[in-house]
Amino acid sequence: MMEVKRFLEKNYGFNVDEINILEGYANINYKVKNASGSLFVLKEYTNNQPLFNTLQAETRVLMKLNNKLRDKFPKPVANLSGNFLTVSDDNLKKVYRLLKWVVGDFFYQTEHTHQLFSSFGKFLAMMDMELLQINDETIEARRMDWDLQYLTEIDARKDYIDDPNLRKYIDHFFLQFRENVLPVLPILRKSVIHNDANDWNVLVKNGKVTGLIDFGDMVYAHLIQELAVAITYAIFDKEDPLEWAALIVKSYNQVIQLKQEEVDILYYLIAGRLCMSLINSSKAKEENPSNDYISVSEKQAIALLKKWVQINPEKAKTVFRKAVGLKPLKIESVSSSIIKRHRFISPAQSVSYNLPVKMAGAAFQYMYDAYGNTFLDAYNNIPHVGHQHPRVVEAGQRQMARLNTNTRYIFDILAEYSEKLLSKFPEPLNKVFFVNSGSAASDLAIRLAQTKTGFKNVMVLEHGYHGHTRQGIEISHYKFGRKGGKGQAGYILKTPIPDTFRGPYKKNDGTAGRQYAGLAKDLLKEGSAPVAAFIAEPIVGCAGQVPLAKGYLKNVYPVIREQGGVCISDEVQTGFGRMGSTFWGFELQDVVPDIVVLGKPMGNGHPLAAVVTTDEIADSFDNGMEFFSSFGGNPVSCAIGKAVLEVIEEEGLQQNALETGHYFLKMLNELKNRYEVIGDVRGNGLFLGVELIKNIEILEHHTQLANHLKNKMRDNFILISTDGPKDNIIKMKPPMCFNKQNADIVVDRLSKLLTSYHT
Ligand code: PMP
Repeated sequence: MMEVKRFLEKNYGFNVDEINILEGYANINYKVKNASGSLFVLKEYTNNQPLFNTLQAETRVLMKLNNKLRDKFPKPVANLSGNFLTVSDDNLKKVYRLLKWVVGDFFYQTEHTHQLFSSFGKFLAMMDMELLQINDETIEARRMDWDLQYLTEIDARKDYIDDPNLRKYIDHFFLQFRENVLPVLPILRKSVIHNDANDWNVLVKNGKVTGLIDFGDMVYAHLIQELAVAITYAIFDKEDPLEWAALIVKSYNQVIQLKQEEVDILYYLIAGRLCMSLINSSKAKEENPSNDYISVSEKQAIALLKKWVQINPEKAKTVFRKAVGLKPLKIESVSSSIIKRHRFISPAQSVSYNLPVKMAGAAFQYMYDAYGNTFLDAYNNIPHVGHQHPRVVEAGQRQMARLNTNTRYIFDILAEYSEKLLSKFPEPLNKVFFVNSGSAASDLAIRLAQTKTGFKNVMVLEHGYHGHTRQGIEISHYKFGRKGGKGQAGYILKTPIPDTFRGPYKKNDGTAGRQYAGLAKDLLKEGSAPVAAFIAEPIVGCAGQVPLAKGYLKNVYPVIREQGGVCISDEVQTGFGRMGSTFWGFELQDVVPDIVVLGKPMGNGHPLAAVVTTDEIADSFDNGMEFFSSFGGNPVSCAIGKAVLEVIEEEGLQQNALETGHYFLKMLNELKNRYEVIGDVRGNGLFLGVELIKNIEILEHHTQLANHLKNKMRDNFILISTDGPKDNIIKMKPPMCFNKQNADIVVDRLSKLLTSYHT
């Protein structure tokens, strides 16, 4: 300290009264009080030419700002030779500068009020009015890590984020930045900006923002970036971050009129800054693990990021547009959108809910409608690893830009993906045929079985559904046996669903399974010819999420095989880890099928499906007739399918299905204990059903209540559906990233709706 004291006396000619080191900065800062009580900060840097130039530029900017706006920014103090930078005597290794202390409390220490936030926007705009006038070549040429316009250039640094369940949000917002921000940036105005108005740099007096320090991150960038950075830190820990952000935007706009294109990208810029902050802090943490400050701000940033993804970007746009007096986006009403749709699309393609949802976007387990609402998706199992999962999207984009062809050519990703997919199956399931839909897959599965066995007949389960092709309908009682169906074809044997809640046999310790299997056996005996195949889902979705009675398949499969047929498990709904305890549904029943039908979740929404079978069955199919699917197994599909499997593994989604599913089931069972109308709660992992009944004695279906709940939940922005022969079962099969808090929300809403339904 003595040295510093001497340095100040020698170079600045003042008597030092007190010196303290300021913590938390990369360079060394001293707080200095002189004999007359004035406060200063002395900054010490390791000297180099680019830094020296930057510091000179900073001095120029600070002098200009101080000329216009007094006592708000650090004012450079000249040394005795009249220079603002003082170079050390020891071979010019160090460079120093002295700044006048700016008085005030830090933003993070003060009470956050609307007045404070409004004053913040105004303050920033007043500063930016001055900065807009400045042309400075040094700053314009500057490239630094914290410059949001170059966010995507730190892509490789995302690897510092170890947690895949955090990384996915960062990848998501990088992708959204690329899609929504980069194309707009070239038309936006630029300026010198402070670029770091975070809550540790902003100073407050009497409830208003009055000062700003640390101009070390100044860059020449898009003006709107200034606001994005400031808002990001100001809204940490806020219940309603968007409303607080709007206060800053509104008051800023009173001084500098913002343009529509600027406010429209703010949502993504704020998210981008959060990502940047997390990436850079992870890097810093790796370099300096003991720094507590990094961890504190990191926690807040993660919490905000997870909250931000739940905000519909359209809502953010509307809120920010309103804040600057711009009209909201004009969006066609749902009713006129429906009219338009019906001009082209048959009403046979039904739309869910009394009030249909017009979707505009989605992220993970959240879906955004066109009107700014966010829906919690507790229903859609096709976006298995989460809606628009960035890993999957990027895998598709990349491969689509490189090569998309068909399986008549050799491309490595077909074998790579097949190997990875087949590694998930037990022996002897080791061949795969790729197609584009579950229907095409079940159709092919039946053909394989019929070709292998030479038989035609097929045994199916009551209420089962396997596809919409002609073959699919014929093997789906859910279709042929219901409205519009043509009844059971001659070659179909329909065996009763082994339902231990509704069926005749209820002892689910293996007894009922054996009894139901007995019924299948009897049916086979009665049949005129052996069956080529028996097809069933391990949990029958369209029947209303009915798990097969314990031991059922273990008793049925041998009977089918004995008479020369093969066993098909339709895993379109139940596969890929959704069961939690197992990767495939058939594993719940401790059997290995001969053919497995895959679909829905396989491509996370990309049309990708497959049939997996044994060498023997695949060989028998190679009878001279080529099997070719134009799109099946194309490189883009393979890249996407592979990414889906990788994400399931990396994000531990099967384990999540197990834990969250277990919790969800427990909460639903608690609900069942409270409401008599809930007759049964069932399922595995994240594949659940809640059966609603009017009367427990006769199990009278409560279709009306199921319909009421489905629609009311939708009105409460939660997506669920109903199914079953009487449509009285609530079906839940959310994206696999669904969490316990999400489950709580669903159960809480259901509970409220059930209570109000009764009273
Ligand atoms: N099998 C099952 C069990 C299904 O649930 C479905 C679709 N709901 C299909 C097959 C048919 O799949 P896709 O709609 O892709 O043709």
